[in-house]
Amino acid sequence: MSDTTTDLPLIFDAPRRAKPPRHLADLSPAERRKAMVALGEPAFRARQLSAHYFSRLIDDPARMTDLPAADRERLAGALLPRLLTPVRTQQADGCTTVKTLWRMHDGALVESVLMRYPDRVTMCVSSQAGCGMACPFCATGQGGLQRNMSAGEIVEQVVAGARALASGDVPGGLGRVSNVVFMGMGEPLANYSAVLGAVRRLTDPAPDGLGLSARGVTVSTVGLVPRMHQLADENIPVTLALSLHAPDDELRDELVPVNTRWNVREAVEAAWAYAALTRRRVSIEYAMMHGVNDQAWRADLLADVLRSYGDWGWVHVNLIPLNPTPGSAWTASDPADEREFVRRLQAKGVPTTVRDTRGQDIDGACGQLAAAPEPDAIEPAAPERRTVRERPGA
Ligand code: SAH
Repeated sequence: MSDTTTDLPLIFDAPRRAKPPRHLADLSPAERRKAMVALGEPAFRARQLSAHYFSRLIDDPARMTDLPAADRERLAGALLPRLLTPVRTQQADGCTTVKTLWRMHDGALVESVLMRYPDRVTMCVSSQAGCGMACPFCATGQGGLQRNMSAGEIVEQVVAGARALASGDVPGGLGRVSNVVFMGMGEPLANYSAVLGAVRRLTDPAPDGLGLSARGVTVSTVGLVPRMHQLADENIPVTLALSLHAPDDELRDELVPVNTRWNVREAVEAAWAYAALTRRRVSIEYAMMHGVNDQAWRADLLADVLRSYGDWGWVHVNLIPLNPTPGSAWTASDPADEREFVRRLQAKGVPTTVRDTRGQDIDGACGQLAAAPEPDAIEPAAPERRTVRERPGA
């Protein structure tokens, strides 16, 4: 017999996670001005603080010399709290691939990966701690969802990368972040408003945001169809990636469980509609799994499914060699099978690329981010946050 009167308090007593501290990057420019006024400051200080954070990449109040000395710490403390503390960094590819494990204010862990190429720098960022989508071949999917990240927490990953590049910490000379891919931990479209806020902060021109080109920002999704339509309507020409992994529902139901809610047809149609509205070519992600989804007939079927929406260049396929994850039964495709898969797609006129496996040896490649700290590495690697002093006389 169930007794609801005893169930209810249990629900309400469940520990509630405190929200991440409010950060400048959570707020639109208008909201920042309101926040300044609420702090007893003139609204124009919002722009000054934004310039420090987004243009100069600083959050150290001592360097904010255009703010009254007596107010610097208080304003930085109120709007630029430290959201991410580095726990561990790992490097590969001659230090041009850097994976960072971050701890957030409540102890939740996430990872981001910086990848420097000759012509660009890509930051792969997380949007959730964990992930609720449960794709069985993905390490993140195995641990379930812990919580959504705030826009500020998402943006901070990019700002941290930008700082490392601007200070010469990454081999190859001073540099800038040119691309951001929401392909770290989490399902971005399941944390829609924070992800959209982060996209705006990344693409708004300085000093309101980091001023990245929207074309350099890619949002990847398992196929949350209503959110894909919503994103198309936002009028920000970010690139959309759809993690398809199978052209048929029978297999995709297994590989991407949300397929039982929105199937292959619906997901591909939403991707096509995104391309039609934004005129941005959509990317179809397809992790190649030996004997699972890499058969020649599936390449043909995939090409037919995509081509059924027209051949005006709305789509390209990005094959990802499966990266190993702990305990996974699946292995990467044989090179010969992969080549044949590519050949068949291209023969049917579908542009196809094979993604590199950067970061694989540091578990930093696609689907390998699991945010498990080494037992001896869980102490913060950075100095504690500055203390915030009260404004004298306030
Ligand atoms: N949840 C979003 C964002 C994560 S992106 C999404 O699924 O699109 C991470 C990409 O890597 C996705 O395309 C995902 O399917 C793929 N991936 C996951 N595990 C992988 C693995 N073990 N090897 C290769 N790619 C993998």
